[in-house]
Amino acid sequence: MRVVSGIQPTGKPHLGNYLGAIRNYVKFQDDALAAGGECLIFIADLHALSMPHNPAELHASTLELVATLVACGVDPDKAILFNQAQVPAHAELQWLLNGTARMGWLNRMTQFKDKSGKNREGASIALFTYPVLQAADVLLYQATHVPVGEDQKQHLELARDIAQKFNNDFASEDAPVFTLPDPIIPPEAARIMSLRDGGAKMSKSDPSEMSRINLADDADEIMKKIKKAKTDPEPLPSEAKGLEERAEASNLVGIYGALAGKSTDGVLAEFGGQGFGVFKPALGELLVETLRPISARFVELKDDREALDAILARGAARARALGAPTLDATYKALGLVRG
Ligand code: ATP
Ligand code: MG
Repeated sequence: MRVVSGIQPTGKPHLGNYLGAIRNYVKFQDDALAAGGECLIFIADLHALSMPHNPAELHASTLELVATLVACGVDPDKAILFNQAQVPAHAELQWLLNGTARMGWLNRMTQFKDKSGKNREGASIALFTYPVLQAADVLLYQATHVPVGEDQKQHLELARDIAQKFNNDFASEDAPVFTLPDPIIPPEAARIMSLRDGGAKMSKSDPSEMSRINLADDADEIMKKIKKAKTDPEPLPSEAKGLEERAEASNLVGIYGALAGKSTDGVLAEFGGQGFGVFKPALGELLVETLRPISARFVELKDDREALDAILARGAARARALGAPTLDATYKALGLVRG
């Protein structure tokens, strides 16, 4: 079992990132070790170049993300934690795969359409070829399992298509160059919605700070944001069915359940019939309790530049060693001469 997953160092990590992605990393690092495999978690700093960015901010948020991941329980002794920029094989393999990826395949990617919006001509080439880099990210390590959110499923399909075509075109059937990775979709429907709009996902790029809980928020900020979270005037129902058509209420109950390890029905068994005047403070306190140790650890680590650099350097060295045989095999399969 080899699990590979990446996260972009753009903006401040929030509760949605934690419940939808980071918390699962902690589980995967243990599962992979138990299965005698590896779990690679990388900071996708090369991907961040696909959108306009500020170099000083990218630099700072890359280091902050390392601190966040470790504060959330990613253990650099268990997982291989690194950033792409220190493993040149990601960019190299992307170029080698550019010969296999087809324009038509990339033209069908919905993320490019979403993120480029109306300004297709002004979008960067990096935004268009982003899925090929993503394919390189996982194929480089012969990943067997790739945890992805719903939004990334299409890109993983593309990685499989690229791997399959490359194997067909340049490798013999009994010695394929690339492993076809399988997606792992998080078991709980971990899609946390905005606190201001139950129809939009909680997101770093939402201009409203009140729409999300950041992992670095202090207790006062958390309580304030939960108190101000949009709701309706009805008390909570006693069964999950009663939350249909109540997106905001449903989201808050979902967050409570995800944090407390309870099903929706379990949460409603406790709070059914209660109004938000009772439920919101309980949710706020649970959030504060859950995030307190994370933010304490984050604050401790975030300015320890030496420790953060050392974590990334060690992870990158391990990643370079794991990726080297596949990169060599790819050059060789393509007929390139390398001494
Ligand atoms: P952006 O708005 O810039 O796209 P984001 O908030 O979506 O930022 P990403 O860095 O794109 O954050 O995502 C990092 C990880 O967090 C991904 O695995 C993604 O699926 C997951 N994730 C992001 N938002 C949520 C959410 N609201 N609920 C659950 N998981 C989420
Ligand atoms: Mg996103």
